[in-house]
Amino acid sequence: MTPLEFDQHHLWHPYTNVAKPGPTFRVTEAEGAWLTLDDGARVIDAMSSWWCMLHGHRNPRITGAIHAQLDKLPHVMFGGLTHDPAIELGRKLLEMSPPSMQRIFYCDSGSVAVEVGMKMAVQYQYSVSQTQRSKFVTIRSGYHGDTWKAMSVCDPVTGMHHLFQGALSIQYFIDKPKIRIDEDWNPDEAENGLAALRETLEKHNDIAAFILEPVVQGTGGMYFYHPEFLNQARAICDEHGVLLIFDEIATGFGRTGQMFGTDHTNIEPDILCLGKALTGGHISFACTMTNDRVAEGIGHGEPGIFMHGPTFMGNPLACVAAKASLDILSEGGWVRQTQRIEAQMSEELAPAKSFKGVEDVRVLGGIAVIEMDHTVSADVAHGLAKENGVYLRPFAKNIYSMPPFICSEDEISQITAALLKLAKVL
Ligand SMILES: *Cc1c(COP(=O)(O)O)cnc(C)c1O
Repeated sequence: MTPLEFDQHHLWHPYTNVAKPGPTFRVTEAEGAWLTLDDGARVIDAMSSWWCMLHGHRNPRITGAIHAQLDKLPHVMFGGLTHDPAIELGRKLLEMSPPSMQRIFYCDSGSVAVEVGMKMAVQYQYSVSQTQRSKFVTIRSGYHGDTWKAMSVCDPVTGMHHLFQGALSIQYFIDKPKIRIDEDWNPDEAENGLAALRETLEKHNDIAAFILEPVVQGTGGMYFYHPEFLNQARAICDEHGVLLIFDEIATGFGRTGQMFGTDHTNIEPDILCLGKALTGGHISFACTMTNDRVAEGIGHGEPGIFMHGPTFMGNPLACVAAKASLDILSEGGWVRQTQRIEAQMSEELAPAKSFKGVEDVRVLGGIAVIEMDHTVSADVAHGLAKENGVYLRPFAKNIYSMPPFICSEDEISQITAALLKLAKVL
């Protein structure tokens, strides 16, 4: 068996059919925005490897930090022990994130960060004698991960709730916010979608928290909505004793043109989930942050201890990688980079608006989307984009790119040319 044959026969890839494996490129090396494939071809990683690789692959400050840590303390359990990488990263996270976010729970992946956030909400409500509050309300077209509780608040259609019926918790769904980010806010609650939230919270007293992705819905539909929805939702949640959870696993760390999706609003959530770009994409890591109200509420309730603790919690290699990535972000270059990417992609993708089969073209910060009026094949897209020296993996109706922030003007043009080509052909 060739290596690729072995891969096709034995290795499961994300969201694929083992009986009908699609084309897979074998990557031998990566540097900056570029991937090298085993046939010698080089392609730009226009996905930032699922939105993580902000500063490019093999960023020397991040790999340097990991190398140095590897020779000192690659891992140690976090139960009863701590270490400087965890503490230093904590200080940095507090400095950069919304001020009320004071308590940090480190974990391994985004889905787990969501599980932890949802668990915090339920345990908080339990601790303050609201034991009936164990369910969640969310908006349609959301995506929060692939573990059970996270999956229960993903869009019921794209999240295939019918398939997992009986195994999934039943949650409350309201429509996604109706006013787009570039439209004027409409204060009429029936028109802006807040009426549904208000009604749901009034009718049901078993809701622990409202969970959603702020401003940009990622995998559930790449939809950008008006931040005023979140300002008002905060007030409605407060009126009803319901917590607010922001899943910023996709929107965090500059991707939307602000450091966090929260920074588009004038409120703060009770619980914030971070992941994906946290380590600049170099190693799996995530965290859940919360305010003193939730942390103290849990701590002063029964049983007091927070019931979660992954084996690899606070892994030092991941902590130093994250710290190095956040140090680079703190220097501020990302602001100019995302502004430049936004302007250039808006201009170069504008012609797609008149292509046959294109429903919408939208750009925000380092996110560019061409939404088609039909589902496109990711597998066919691979080959076509590769001819342009670009790696792209569309999903559903969306042909999109989230390039590394370090992409040059020429590299961005190469990506937009590939996006336009896919929108014409697929
Ligand atoms: C990717 C993602 C997750 C899940 O993260 P994993 O690391 O894949 O478990 C959760 N929420 C959002 C918004 C995401 O984009």
